[in-house]
Amino acid sequence: MALEGLLKGFADFRLGYYHDHLDLFEKLASEGQSPKILIVGCADARVDPGILTQTKPGEIFTVRNIGAIVPPAQIPPDHRQHGTSAAIEFAVRALEVEHIVILGHALCGGIGALVDGDKSAFAGYDYLSTWTAVAQEVRDLALEELKDMPHEEIVRAVEQASVVNSVRNLMGFPWLAERVSSGKLALHAWWFNLTQGQLYAFDPAAATFKPVLGIEVIPTVAKGTSLSAIKPERLIAASARKPGF
Ligand SMILES: [Zn+2]
Repeated sequence: MALEGLLKGFADFRLGYYHDHLDLFEKLASEGQSPKILIVGCADARVDPGILTQTKPGEIFTVRNIGAIVPPAQIPPDHRQHGTSAAIEFAVRALEVEHIVILGHALCGGIGALVDGDKSAFAGYDYLSTWTAVAQEVRDLALEELKDMPHEEIVRAVEQASVVNSVRNLMGFPWLAERVSSGKLALHAWWFNLTQGQLYAFDPAAATFKPVLGIEVIPTVAKGTSLSAIKPERLIAASARKPGF
């Protein structure tokens, strides 16, 4: 049944959206893609970046994984299979995107599993905990600093701090940091609350996530930003002072 739904959806797309955007698809086919934005999102079925941002084909380059996580750069490269890093490299070096958005979200199962550790239902899986361990330090710090808070608030703090941690990891790729330094690239830490339908962006001055209300947003990292402003530790400390939203 589920697959029939997909095929019906594709039939509708072909006759409707594709037909209505024929010029766009012809242009994209003949000229190639030139998106200005890379979104690193979570694989979670509820948070499709294209739907959330109402973008058209060709507008966003997207990589989705468990937890919307960016792993640290491997320097020198270790020649293992780094899918997320390869997508980031192509977006930055080949497509020369102008913005990278890390899009975390509420009720994230991957981050929840990281927080629960050995108690998680997925603890024995082959790959999952190794992957989410990219944010292990953030998780450990949150468990220590926020130990008196309800579990859901700890998970939320780790979801958000992990997004900030991923932005920091982006800056470890030398060709990416160079483009930030020269003002050609800005980095954004965003978090989507699907129960409210509200988008939040990290405000480096306040070290917290604030609701995005209009079409202006302060980048988390741009030319001249001090990396000390975007320490996940600051956000966790701010969460301890002012839990929730
Ligand atoms: Zn998720």
